[in-house]
Amino acid sequence: MEKIKKNDEEWKKELTEEQYHVCREKGTERAFTGKYWDNHDKGMYRCACCGNELFTSDTKFDSGTGWPSFWAPVSQENVETEEDNSFLMRRTEAVCSKCGAHLGHVFDDGPKPTNLRYCINSASLKFDKDK
Ligand code: FE
Repeated sequence: MEKIKKNDEEWKKELTEEQYHVCREKGTERAFTGKYWDNHDKGMYRCACCGNELFTSDTKFDSGTGWPSFWAPVSQENVETEEDNSFLMRRTEAVCSKCGAHLGHVFDDGPKPTNLRYCINSASLKFDKDK
């Protein structure tokens, strides 16, 4: 996959303050405040930074956490995972493989068939209805 490289100034121009904080500084939006945690429409969730396809509504589920949650990405190629040991926790970070945007974290308490829970910030996503 072709990678997108932009410097901080370029990202700052293109993104909202919240998107920049979450995607480029690994921030976390407050629970139940994002655009998509309660979105039940059919469609494609793309990267807010680069448009890369990340998750479809078919894998979205109600986790009760206040963040959009998915049990699988569109493909392992589109969403990469990395070890994240910040804040004295061992977590797995989910990252857009195309532009490196921080998306959220992956936990192993999700539903079948994967038992995974991709806990994703709405600020990292751009929803395409009916796609
Ligand atoms: Fe991206």
